[in-house]
Amino acid sequence: MYRHDTILSAKGDNTGFGGLFPFLFFSHKLNLAFRNRGFLTGEYKDMTYVVTKPCIGTKDRACVEVCPVDCFYDIRDPKLNEKYGIGPAEWAGEDDPEKRGYGMLVIHPDECINCGACETECPVEAIYEDTAVPEEFKEFTKLNADITLSMSDDELDSTRITSRD
Ligand code: SF4
Ligand code: SF4
Repeated sequence: MYRHDTILSAKGDNTGFGGLFPFLFFSHKLNLAFRNRGFLTGEYKDMTYVVTKPCIGTKDRACVEVCPVDCFYDIRDPKLNEKYGIGPAEWAGEDDPEKRGYGMLVIHPDECINCGACETECPVEAIYEDTAVPEEFKEFTKLNADITLSMSDDELDSTRITSRD
């Protein structure tokens, strides 16, 4: 978010510097492409807490109630349920036109402040610090980063979840 703010303010402040904005724009794109990845290894770094597979089919949103910075995003994607062979959260019922019970929540690595409050709140142990993600859930570190870092500010605003309501 702060990177977007930076580039937008740079655009507004540099109308007299024709070469500066393109430079900043492509620097920003490169930054988006490589941030959180080891340049040579391709591994994600600078991650914080990560939501993993057990959230799918549970998704009770207990974690969002304790997060001090509202950095959870609600990914209502039935393809996640299909991929892992897990039905929607029971609380949503079979008739879930908004797909609220489908998919899972993810954490934005640039916004999470690593407080750890959500980890103990999760009833199914779906949340781990990046360094403690079990081997079987490793792919979810990338999934949390890929989803959140690819969204525009508008998409983030419409996907952010701040309470169970
Ligand atoms: S508390 Fe756990 S299961 Fe519930 S929404 Fe958060 S990560 Fe998913
Ligand atoms: S570790 Fe803290 S800041 Fe990060 S997602 Fe969990 S509650 Fe939010």
